[in-house]
Amino acid sequence: MSQATLLQSPIEYLKGVGPLRADMLKKELNLYTFGDLLHHFPHRHIDKTQVSPIGQVSPEMDFVQVRGVLQGIDIIGEKRSRRMVTQLKDSTGQIELAWFQGINWVQKSIVEGQAYLVFGRVSFFNGRAQIVHPEIEPYVAATAGQKSLLEPVYPSTEKLKSRGLNGKQIGKLTQTLFQQIREQDVPENLPSHLLKDRMGRWEAYRQIHFPTSQEHYKNALSRLVFEELFIAQVRLNLIKIDRHKNSKGHKFEIVGDNFNTFYNNHLPFQLTGAQKRVIKEIRQDTARGFQMNRLLQGDVGSGKTMIALLSMLIAADNGFQSCLMAPTEILAQQHYASLSELLKEMPLEVALLTGSTKTAERRRILQGLMDDTIHFVVGTHAIIEEVVQFKNLGLAVIDEQHRFGVAQRAQLWKKSKVPPHVLVMTATPIPRTLAMTAFGDLDYSVMDELPPGRQPIKTVHRYETSRASVMDFVKTEITKGRQAYYVYPLIEESEKMSYEDLMQGYEQVKSFFPEPKYKISMVHGKQKNIEKETNMKRFVLGDTQILVGTTVIEVGVNVPNASVMVIESAEKFGLSQLHQLRGRVGRGSEQSYCILLSSVKASREAKNRLKIMCETNDGFVIAEKDLELRGPGDIDGTRQSGALNFRLANIINDRQALEEAKNEAYAICEKDPTLSAPENALTRAFLQSQKTKIGWGKIA
Ligand code: ADP
Ligand code: MG
Repeated sequence: MSQATLLQSPIEYLKGVGPLRADMLKKELNLYTFGDLLHHFPHRHIDKTQVSPIGQVSPEMDFVQVRGVLQGIDIIGEKRSRRMVTQLKDSTGQIELAWFQGINWVQKSIVEGQAYLVFGRVSFFNGRAQIVHPEIEPYVAATAGQKSLLEPVYPSTEKLKSRGLNGKQIGKLTQTLFQQIREQDVPENLPSHLLKDRMGRWEAYRQIHFPTSQEHYKNALSRLVFEELFIAQVRLNLIKIDRHKNSKGHKFEIVGDNFNTFYNNHLPFQLTGAQKRVIKEIRQDTARGFQMNRLLQGDVGSGKTMIALLSMLIAADNGFQSCLMAPTEILAQQHYASLSELLKEMPLEVALLTGSTKTAERRRILQGLMDDTIHFVVGTHAIIEEVVQFKNLGLAVIDEQHRFGVAQRAQLWKKSKVPPHVLVMTATPIPRTLAMTAFGDLDYSVMDELPPGRQPIKTVHRYETSRASVMDFVKTEITKGRQAYYVYPLIEESEKMSYEDLMQGYEQVKSFFPEPKYKISMVHGKQKNIEKETNMKRFVLGDTQILVGTTVIEVGVNVPNASVMVIESAEKFGLSQLHQLRGRVGRGSEQSYCILLSSVKASREAKNRLKIMCETNDGFVIAEKDLELRGPGDIDGTRQSGALNFRLANIINDRQALEEAKNEAYAICEKDPTLSAPENALTRAFLQSQKTKIGWGKIA
């Protein structure tokens, strides 16, 4: 058998498996081939030398391994509360073992009076130590000369366990596997300069399954984690290089009058360093003749709108039209208003196209886009409808990307033969670590600097019991001429309940701020668009001092005079949403405040989130914390990306390895984009073997 095919052999061909067990391994653990088994890593190793005296087991211990003799096996209770308990005793004490499931077959496999090695999570019950559903095996003293003292235990399932394939028995299969495969079946895939301080690949696979010491295990693990991250990064780089090479795009060769005139005469402020850097990145990217596909991450208030405008000016300098899309009508209107204002002395035509644009106006705009008398169009997804055709769309800017589907973006590309450059802007920071794994094939810019002179928002956490004093505080702010937001959570499972909460809140706010002295507007998801717009507009224009709403106000809204954000039931919000909401204030020169109201009974995690909010205003720090608290699976937009499905690597704990993998992969691909240099031959061969790797069983 050639080397590539041995690992592709169906699992049933492994000695000791056979068709029946093979079926179970496929169904229960997705193990179809020899290679799948090789990659089914042990979740721990039994070290028979590491045994705790039972008398010393304490509540601080999490998992313990103990050794003793079983005394008295009892089955207690009936039906659902039926359980089996036994005592494991050594010379220092005893611990209870309990089973609630699989009692019959466990009972058959244990014998009173025999010595066992037991592993599991300890819990304490009435001061007595207990292990529920322990791993248990007859104790056999390690024989001298035995190679490995560390015996692997593999992830298994209840079903497999009951059919004689528990975590240890799977290890027998792995042992058989290692008798069959050779080094050539697991060839090296890292370039030699990365192997200096690293275990070779074959050795690493052997050691991760059957380590000869803890030290070796650690080295094997870190080698394989690095490999996994490195290969993923190389792949992303190659996809990106391929896109750069093959996706023809408009060439924005010059920076001309539009840009320069605006920059020199109409720019209302100095750009921040981050803004300058990002504009430069966009300029370089759009000048190469390949399509730009860039994700711009900028914290709330970092000035992304200006980046959009400057990029659009470059497009105009090169004879191209641009569109700027926002997820809501309110935001589109705001963008339109600020662009029109900024461009009022420029010879450029800006239009606003949304769902509520009147027919005659719509007709005028569609015509203007066709004959290129309109240069910039701002709008909602109304822009991507079929009927909207451009003479020469060169750039599409999409604001607040997390509300815009991938399919909708693809629609854009159909608007001209050569796809427009795409700039996606988002203010929901994704941790850098995550971004570089999930979006590594996109070009990526970061704005991590706020315009100068901003006063950091003061954030406090208060319990609902002190709502009255919070209201008083809001009153003093309003008396100073400021405006305030009151936000209520939207409970996804129960729209009705959130609505009732909101109404109740509205009444409460109203009783503190009676009309006619105070004016309040309210927005929520149940309102008709037009009603929402009107209420929103009253607040934007300063006709009302208070805006009560659900999270519909979350995205992008810019009311610099608003200085207080009160978030009700703040414990019900996630970190990134809290950060987004808070970003609605602190947009003017006045000191702004964010008050997080929660129930005293909020969970510890929720209070922890609120604490983080009080400690930092930095969206990227918050995103990192969010990732730590929730794990990568829950972060917006990455759920389906699949880019995070690592076998061994964990992008939170393995950050450092990820950073190194990313840098190395980038350097290698930059220098040798086809991986044809001799030093990259192994990596290349590996990637090719991966492409053709098809498990036979998986086809069926
Ligand atoms: P976001 O990144 O959240 O979309 P905006 O583009 O809405 O931020 O900008 C927030 C506010 O900061 C706006 O009022 C804008 O005019 C202002 N701004 C943007 N860039 C600068 C800058 N370099 N200096 C001063 N103010 C700026
Ligand atoms: Mg914005």
